[in-house]
Amino acid sequence: MAATDTHRAKSLARIRAIQAEIANLDAICSGTLTRRMTTCGNPRCRCARGERHGPYVRWGHMVKGRLVQRWLSAEEAPRFAAANRAFRALKRLLHAWERESLRILEDPDRRKS
Ligand SMILES: [Zn+2]
Repeated sequence: MAATDTHRAKSLARIRAIQAEIANLDAICSGTLTRRMTTCGNPRCRCARGERHGPYVRWGHMVKGRLVQRWLSAEEAPRFAAANRAFRALKRLLHAWERESLRILEDPDRRKS
């Protein structure tokens, strides 16, 4: 049917656009970044009076099913933040890619549900 071919062509065009966006991504990293204020434990430090140190950025991600966390340096933090945004964008793009793929793969009569 001609209409179906048109829809498939549109979905294919959207897939090509998604692929172009993915090709523009550089470094990616999964997990989450959290900003923390800390105390150093020295009772004479200003942090003992409530003026805590930081913010420091901690990166947590899963490795073989285990959560691994580490502190990032001030230089690393913005790079990791950008890579984390890129990772989230990649996940959104992959979901969109799959959505468009189903429009191509599935028989149109089965998509009523
Ligand atoms: Zn301190």
